[in-house]
Amino acid sequence: MTRILLLSALILGIFTQAQELKSPSEFLGFELGTAFSRHYEVVDYFEYLAQAAPDRVKIKVYGQTNERRPLILVYVSSPGNMAQLETLRQEHLKATTGEGAGEKAIVWLSYNVHGNESVSTEASMKTIYELLTSRSSLLENTLVIMDPCVNPDGRDRYSNWYNQYQNRPHQVDPNSKEHHEGWWNGRSNHYMFDLNRDWAWLTQVESQQRIEEYNNWLPHVHVDFHEQGVDNPYYFAPGAEPYHEVITDFQREFQSTLGRNHAKYFDAQGWLYFTKEVFDLFYPSYGDTYPMYNGAIGMTYEQGGSGRAGLGIVTRIGDTLTLKDRIDHHFTTGISTVEVSSQNAGRLNREFRKFHQKKDFRYKSYVLKGDRDKLDGIKSLLDKHRILYGDLGKGNYKGHDFKTGAQGSLSVEDNAMVVSTDQPKGTLVQVLFEPNAKLSDSLTYDITAWSLPYAHGLDALASASLIAPEGDRPPSPRSVIERGSYGFITDWNSLRDARFLAELIQNGIRARTADHPFSIGGRSFARGSLIITKGDNARKPDFIQILQRISDRYEKDIFSAGTGFVDTGKDFGSSSVRMIEVPKIAVLSGGPTSSLRFGEVWHFFEQQLHYPLTVIDDDYAGRVDLDPYTVLILPDGRYGEHFKGKELSKLKDWVAKGGKLIAMGGAIKALDGKDGFGIEAREMEEDLDQEEETVVPQSYEDLEREQIRGAITGAIFKTRVDNTHPLAYGYGPEYFSLKLGSDSYEYLDSGNAVYLVDDTIPYSGFAGSEAQKEIGKSLIYGVESHGRGQVIYMVDNPLFRGFWENGKLLFANALFMVD
Ligand SMILES: [Zn+2]
Repeated sequence: MTRILLLSALILGIFTQAQELKSPSEFLGFELGTAFSRHYEVVDYFEYLAQAAPDRVKIKVYGQTNERRPLILVYVSSPGNMAQLETLRQEHLKATTGEGAGEKAIVWLSYNVHGNESVSTEASMKTIYELLTSRSSLLENTLVIMDPCVNPDGRDRYSNWYNQYQNRPHQVDPNSKEHHEGWWNGRSNHYMFDLNRDWAWLTQVESQQRIEEYNNWLPHVHVDFHEQGVDNPYYFAPGAEPYHEVITDFQREFQSTLGRNHAKYFDAQGWLYFTKEVFDLFYPSYGDTYPMYNGAIGMTYEQGGSGRAGLGIVTRIGDTLTLKDRIDHHFTTGISTVEVSSQNAGRLNREFRKFHQKKDFRYKSYVLKGDRDKLDGIKSLLDKHRILYGDLGKGNYKGHDFKTGAQGSLSVEDNAMVVSTDQPKGTLVQVLFEPNAKLSDSLTYDITAWSLPYAHGLDALASASLIAPEGDRPPSPRSVIERGSYGFITDWNSLRDARFLAELIQNGIRARTADHPFSIGGRSFARGSLIITKGDNARKPDFIQILQRISDRYEKDIFSAGTGFVDTGKDFGSSSVRMIEVPKIAVLSGGPTSSLRFGEVWHFFEQQLHYPLTVIDDDYAGRVDLDPYTVLILPDGRYGEHFKGKELSKLKDWVAKGGKLIAMGGAIKALDGKDGFGIEAREMEEDLDQEEETVVPQSYEDLEREQIRGAITGAIFKTRVDNTHPLAYGYGPEYFSLKLGSDSYEYLDSGNAVYLVDDTIPYSGFAGSEAQKEIGKSLIYGVESHGRGQVIYMVDNPLFRGFWENGKLLFANALFMVD
């Protein structure tokens, strides 16, 4: 009886709710597409739907942004599916081990990863409303998971800006201010990171929190909604070459199935679109490729518009593109995606299961060897991806040696681990670890190399046979700090060590570094090792407690020395056991700097090193007294006419008085040839055909392909290291550098810490033949002295997208070790 009553109440409930569900326009109080909604309004609307239709809509707050905005997921399906959501999820995940009887299609729609590509969040509201009303039959066998805004900080940055600068009514003339977002634009997140380059590296809080949920579901289909230039027609799948070779025939084919369905709707409306061009499927950190490598059909849909379009804009051909048009297009492909997925639910499930059974990987196991800090670093990344690994015991392993790029062997003591492709995430393991991903076409949208062993600075070997782990090794016991000791010594070879130092000096503990290797009490220490003496910290009564607390936090192994009298090397009181100064840091932003490159520096200090910095905008940089700062960072960018006249002499005077100038990428270009700076750029040969024997006129069609001979599209090179130089303390004799372009500079007269010799064939990724010649014998990282200060040149960017872990110590050395 009660049951029947409850049931009828439920049915009645559904009936009345469906009747009364408010559309986005009704709820927001303005017609969708006539204004940009703010994030809180969007969240309110989805919350409203979850309350009004609780049997079909569920919201999960999965995290928070840097600026404290909520990140939400919205689950939408039929009442039957929603009632057993957790069972449905578990059954689906069993498919990754070849089991389970899942039969529902799971479609994940991600909106607005680029904040100023602002239409998609608006489209998400229209899409869910239609799914709940006129298209609800699609939900019978399909679960739709929506992330209405992947990047709320960026999106609100854009919409707040637009609301402030908008003409009223809006002005469609492209020259009006409302179509010209400034430097601090809404595309990226709070730290100016591009979240659509971060799926694999997970450097940002948004990505870290989202990946947890993504792995809880591993959908069959994932769409990342974007916008491109105002004049471009709509883009949808299938994607462009190169495709990564792990992408299966079914994944290729199903993109076409989806594309054809979208085309049907676009044809009917007369809307223009293109497919199979520009947006390739190779670099693993995108919202289309990452899902692909996890078994989904991953796709990018691109509307014309983005931060330039506002509520309406006149295009090159004289049409007016409105926000309403843009909503309609994204809405149409969204619904069409759910439709095709629903029609093919059975096939999607079968193929998803098959994807995870793939076992024919070229390499079965990757052996990784290195310092414990580095192994811990990669383990924490693998945990986030739910990639399994194990510790490895003593042994000698054979296979492709990452260091030589050839067959070789690696012998291991107790400092190694193994990651195998024989696991549900096998495809992702191959993509992230293989030494050199096969490239079907060198014209790509992004970098062509990222292999994790290189990025993390680990010795590595790829083996064609399966290597079993030994099981988890208990952590080796750390030495306890002995109170009465004369001094305390610890190693210096990882970002974790730099964090440790950063926290020590911010707590008023004074530390020194050794410019020569030394041994004491039977232990040997390399250059750069930290020495913290009782004498230097005599005025700090709680010195030992602070040292103990910070050492514990960073799991540092501290050697307690009873004397400052070393067995070999220099005693602690030697002038070459230098006091580390407490740097006061400033970084230039705005104007000439690239917002993404600036963001990498900003994020490095605040979220990785945990050390304060002052952000100086180019607008008023000329009026700032630089004397209080000991370090000034010039991020990569287009500096053009900067560093002339007064500006240049101010900079030079500040360096001469003891300042440390760190010039990165384009900032180096701007200093090239300036009086007092020794850096000298190489000019790329004008005519690439010069050395060809037969000169044939270049066809217009081949021009783009020809130009790529002079290009490096993000490739990994083996460089030499002078690790007696403070900029390279903690490194071995070689360093694998990610080169992002073919700009190259001559060696400095002295202070070449990291440099290329003649070995300029990339170990991973693509470099054109001319570019390879150009970078021979060139500088990568170097230091030049001026008066009491230094200029540090960083030709390659060790902070690029925050994922090149092994480069971060170089940056820390620039701050703490170079003097
Ligand atoms: Zn985008």
